[in-house]
Amino acid sequence: MSPLPALPPPLGRPRLAAPVRCPFCLDAANRVIDSRLGREGNEIRRRRECLECGRRFTTRERVEDVVPKVVKRDERREEFRRDKLIAAVQKACEKRPVSVDDVDRLVDRVERFIQELGEKEVTSQLIGERMMDELVALDPLAAARFASVFLNFQGAKDYEAFFASVEARGRSSRPR
Ligand SMILES: [Zn+2]
Repeated sequence: MSPLPALPPPLGRPRLAAPVRCPFCLDAANRVIDSRLGREGNEIRRRRECLECGRRFTTRERVEDVVPKVVKRDERREEFRRDKLIAAVQKACEKRPVSVDDVDRLVDRVERFIQELGEKEVTSQLIGERMMDELVALDPLAAARFASVFLNFQGAKDYEAFFASVEARGRSSRPR
């Protein structure tokens, strides 16, 4: 079930119109230190740090205002769809010891990563790579399945290369 579409913003309304200002010193320079989806999934709470006075504050933004468009390989733009990511991960995790909650949390992290980029557009390539990183940490076999579709694997050689790269990564990176 997908949520009801929100009313579109009035025509001509600029995206992210006003800069976010620090409530203490009113400076517009700040950085996002944490982003969380609200319980209803329709707003994002962001913890920000003012670069001028160093104080921290929280803003609430409507999801539609901060979720970037996805740029496909053929340059088409489409809406970011969480349910699509969920479906892709679930398919990759079929018959794997991965719970529904694991899938949910994985997609949460990917979504958060995308929102925190703060860009108006993000490529499907980047999203796929991030999904793969997350899946490798969760279940390497599921990651291989996902990669075979995402990277269009042609045969056993591609799988070998994939697992070799996973192994190399395991050696070079510390567990998170
Ligand atoms: Zn300030």
